[in-house]
Amino acid sequence: MTRIDEDYDVIVVGASLAGCTAATLLGRHGLRVLLLERASDPAAYKKICTHFLQPGANATLRRLGLEEALVRAGAQRNAYESWTPFGWLSWPEGAEAGYNIRREVLDPMLRKRAAETPGVTLLLGHSARDVIVERDNAGERIAGVRVETKDGGAQRVRAKLVVAADGRHGKLGDLAGVPATETAHGRFLYFAYYQGLELDSGGRSMAWVGDPNAAYCFRNDDQQTLVCVVPTKAKLPEFRKNLEQAFVTMVEALPHAPKLATARRVSDILGMIEMPNHTRPVSARGMAFIGDAALTSDPLFGVGCGWALQSAEWLADAVAPALLAARADASTRSSAHDTSLAAGLAQYSAKHHAELSQHHKLIADLSPGRRFNALERGLFRGAIRDEALALGLQRMISRLAQPSAFLTLKTLLRVAWVNLTKKAPRATGPRATGVVTSATRVASISQVSEPAGVFKG
Ligand SMILES: Cc1cc2nc3c(=O)[nH]c(=O)nc-3n(C[C@H](O)[C@H](O)[C@H](O)COP(=O)(O)OP(=O)(O)OC[C@H]3O[C@@H](n4cnc5c(N)ncnc54)[C@H](O)[C@@H]3O)c2cc1C
Repeated sequence: MTRIDEDYDVIVVGASLAGCTAATLLGRHGLRVLLLERASDPAAYKKICTHFLQPGANATLRRLGLEEALVRAGAQRNAYESWTPFGWLSWPEGAEAGYNIRREVLDPMLRKRAAETPGVTLLLGHSARDVIVERDNAGERIAGVRVETKDGGAQRVRAKLVVAADGRHGKLGDLAGVPATETAHGRFLYFAYYQGLELDSGGRSMAWVGDPNAAYCFRNDDQQTLVCVVPTKAKLPEFRKNLEQAFVTMVEALPHAPKLATARRVSDILGMIEMPNHTRPVSARGMAFIGDAALTSDPLFGVGCGWALQSAEWLADAVAPALLAARADASTRSSAHDTSLAAGLAQYSAKHHAELSQHHKLIADLSPGRRFNALERGLFRGAIRDEALALGLQRMISRLAQPSAFLTLKTLLRVAWVNLTKKAPRATGPRATGVVTSATRVASISQVSEPAGVFKG
């Protein structure tokens, strides 16, 4: 029967994006980390994800030493051309892009990095089934977990800090008495991978920001392009009746639609219907939550992977000094250690809130699938006409700039001025770059005119 050491500095539950990042960085700080993963295959990966990594995560990937490896593995920069009901919006010059890389490649790479990090013990096929609660003068805290081992045994393991990185459907929060709050989501999502898919944007990805339906095509590694539709639930009966037909019909109705018929579909059509947003306190009862376990935002906005990596990094940096001090003085369990760990957790909570709460609020507001309001319509119209507005909007949508830094009075005045004085650009198709398939065809395509509003959903 598997025996696990009984005491660690940190137990991380879940060895996916958030958990592997946290374990790697905590291990590098010199801590002893137990990383538990219920899947037993080291190549396991999250299948229901469209893996658009926002540029905010580039620095974390670099710090993990993975950015170059991802590029070598075929990761694609994810600048994209967007259709909006008001015209085509091109990725602005100078806007930083992130990466598209399939989870099949990304997840095992991150897991290997964690497993190879001195101090980290990765146990595959091991599930956290419950939490251990301990009571002291300061009150109750989560002091460890009960593990179901790969061979079906059970064991209790303790640590100074338990980190839940167990994802959207994880149970650790509920078991610890820290439930998530759920808010409504009004869309569903289906996607499939294609090889040899021509896009009128050439090598670039494309997005269709419908009002309220949406779609995207993301270039990925292995010459695979992910084609995804995100309609409101009004279209659900059609998809339930005949998934393949509804999927293809919706894609082919897009302005400058991808040429599905000339490409080869290399996957099933995968998807998810119920995708509510979840929020919970990111630290409570002496325990921490990272990635989707802390905050699950609407997948349409492509933020979860980047935020999983970033939140793990914020946590590791905030708590490592206190955990190291406690480790150096392991003979005593002093209340000073508890106080400094609590301060580290409070620092992590504050950082998480400062970086993500405004973005999540905007996302959750659009999530039920409502139509754009006057401000949003004005912003898109303005960004299509004005490079400065396009750059500002792109930085906010890429989560590089806080909404409060972009949606200022100055921006609103510029939106009004631009919409009153500037004409819409003549090029009414996507800008083609980095041609992948049909060079001559794509080179002239941005001249083709497209009446706005063809795809209303
Ligand atoms: C349809 C869809 C499309 C998406 N598209 C995008 C996108 O384009 N871009 C983007 O940024 N985000 C996207 N996301 C979100 C993204 O998939 C998540 O935000 C991301 O996977 C979160 O990573 P995580 O490490 O927190 O959790 P997960 O990747 O969910 O990993 C949780 C891990 O914990 C393990 N686990 C769970 N319970 C236990 C337990 N008790 N014991 C041990 N192990 C356990 C699981 O096996 C798993 O490995 C999408 C999500 C959905 C649903």
